[in-house]
Amino acid sequence: MAIKDIDPIIAELIQKEKQRQETTLELIASENHVSTAVMEAAGSCLTNKYAEGYPAARYYGGCEYYDQIESLAIARAKQIFGCQFANVQPHSGANANLASFMAMMQPGDRYISLALSSGGHLSHGMKLNTSAIFWQPDHYELDSKTETIDFDSVRRKALELKPKMILCGYSAYPRTIDFKRFREIADEVGALLFADIAHIAGLVAGGAHPSPFPHAHVVSTTTHKTLRGPRGGLIMTNDEALAKAINRSVFPGSQGGPLMHIIAAKAVAFGEALRPEFKTYAQQIVRNAAALAKALAGKGYRLQSGGTDNHLMLVDLRARNADFTGADAEKALEKAGIICNKNAILNDPRPPKLTSGIRLGTPAVTSRGLKEHDLEVVAEFIDRAMSAKDDDSALKTIRAEVAKFCQKFPMPH
Ligand SMILES: *Cc1c(COP(=O)(O)O)cnc(C)c1O
Repeated sequence: MAIKDIDPIIAELIQKEKQRQETTLELIASENHVSTAVMEAAGSCLTNKYAEGYPAARYYGGCEYYDQIESLAIARAKQIFGCQFANVQPHSGANANLASFMAMMQPGDRYISLALSSGGHLSHGMKLNTSAIFWQPDHYELDSKTETIDFDSVRRKALELKPKMILCGYSAYPRTIDFKRFREIADEVGALLFADIAHIAGLVAGGAHPSPFPHAHVVSTTTHKTLRGPRGGLIMTNDEALAKAINRSVFPGSQGGPLMHIIAAKAVAFGEALRPEFKTYAQQIVRNAAALAKALAGKGYRLQSGGTDNHLMLVDLRARNADFTGADAEKALEKAGIICNKNAILNDPRPPKLTSGIRLGTPAVTSRGLKEHDLEVVAEFIDRAMSAKDDDSALKTIRAEVAKFCQKFPMPH
């Protein structure tokens, strides 16, 4: 029976959410619109079965097709990123990081990362997360002048603390990551280099950002951000001993049965990422981000670090109007049909619930087919909404215009 017959309430909410997605501009840097093929796999009968273990080594019978699906997902992940081992079972990016930490460190070991407030992720040592409860994080900094990674501070912290692991890869960092430079510092102090490419995996897959291989010892990622697959995680390495430890730390270390419907959807997304069109997609994401950044700068907004090399940017609203806050912007833009999130700017004097900035990303709108000149229109919408932030009727008018604009860009099939 269809959802609408069995549960009309949920069916209607799904329908409304579909319409929300279609009529608004999704600029949250960590989101995307997946293909119907990916959604079909994620919504398939594969949700029904247990497949604890790994291909050809399961704890349940009846896994013949699951083995083939997971093996294909692994082979495609290895092909995309050019590595020797992949574990496709982590339920999410945070789970992938937990399992990676378990594989690289003993409880209580020390590591260094970028703090959440500077663009890192909560799984990189935020005090309430397992990454800070079971291990000891310390943080390197951004250079306050260039607002990019301060490699002197990375090296200083590394020499001073002799960490077991150095973590690079971020949630709110608009510049290219120099994995080679991180590896040189890791080698100098005998640390493992862990690259969390959750945000940029699709760019790496499409050749629009340098690969963390061969520099990183372990690489983790989500599959649902620029990589445009189902919500989930993935861990990779070229080191056989680390691969064994990773497999153990995913199952039985931190998870039970794998989500085989999601693994099938990962396999479908990985297949899409191997096609030539995905290269074009990844490059267009970056071109669109550059176009949006340039248009906003032209309107008087300041971009942290001066711009973007990848799919996202941090917009310092104060340069346009000292009274604009990130919280105001998130709210006003949502009323105007533009979805984004507030984000702290480096050394932001405002508290995290307010902030002085927003984070904008182009992966989702690029999936809908927007090109550079369309991002100029988006910048215009953003600036108009900010200027009318306290005028609900003006925001409503913009929202209608945004919805009309969105009709030109149907969801991907
Ligand atoms: C999004 C993100 C994650 C976590 O992903 P979830 O699937 O939400 O757990 C981990 N690391 C980085 C850098 C991220 O941006």
